[in-house]
Amino acid sequence: MAAILLDIAPGDEVIIPDFTFVSTANAFVLRGARPVFADIRPDTLNLDERNLARHVGPKTRAIVPVHYAGVGCAMDEILAVARPRGIAVVEDNAHGLFGARRGKPLGTWGALATLSFHETKNFSCGEGGALLVNDERLVARAEIIREKGTNRKRFFRGEVDKYTWVDIGSSYLPSDLLAAYLLAQLEAREFIQSQRHRIWNSYQSQLGGWAQKNGVALPTVPPHCEQPAHLFYLLLPSEADRDALIAHLKTRGINAVFHY
Ligand SMILES: *Cc1c(COP(=O)(O)O)cnc(C)c1O
Repeated sequence: MAAILLDIAPGDEVIIPDFTFVSTANAFVLRGARPVFADIRPDTLNLDERNLARHVGPKTRAIVPVHYAGVGCAMDEILAVARPRGIAVVEDNAHGLFGARRGKPLGTWGALATLSFHETKNFSCGEGGALLVNDERLVARAEIIREKGTNRKRFFRGEVDKYTWVDIGSSYLPSDLLAAYLLAQLEAREFIQSQRHRIWNSYQSQLGGWAQKNGVALPTVPPHCEQPAHLFYLLLPSEADRDALIAHLKTRGINAVFHY
């Protein structure tokens, strides 16, 4: 939906971090764009704002920062590259629901932001997600695109006396059943998040000594970032160490994965 709303077309370029899940690229590649992969920062693993401008060219239409593990990207700096050049910023906020940077919630910085409710995320209805539309000019068309390209929403509001096909689109709305399943979790948000933070904090406080002894890096969370305890990640010294740790945890019934 984000790529359709931005009229992404063949030949356009979209800058995305080279460390992310495939969905970040697919959304734009499906509209014919070329993904331009930009390096990440070694500390937060987020798009490196310091090297961003060098990836911008005449065909750049969008920048898609991923708030990895829900730790906010350097949005002021990223917007300072994008705005004067008329480039849209779409936050991939699949990890960052209820995270914030300098007190401003993740998902409210770009013209558009995406959320995921896949089963691996903090709030889940199995599959699906949400598009946050922060640019008012995109709202009316977003309503049409998510309703198979029809103006059905205007019909429900009584603004037109029948609904019809007016644009491209698809069936991007969740079913009522999935929405109900998700709503119950959102209502229990404080409980869910407090449990996640309790677990995240105990990893953070108890793994420090072990990590230092074994050359393992723990997550870096800058002081101005509120992270939503989506992931607790470890950077192992080598791929062999990583595989050995994952295998060891598996024997203890703990499912750990590697990214990406
Ligand atoms: C989960 C995830 C997505 C969205 O995945 P979907 O399966 O399409 O909901 C997008 N970006 C990142 C970084 C993710 O982890």
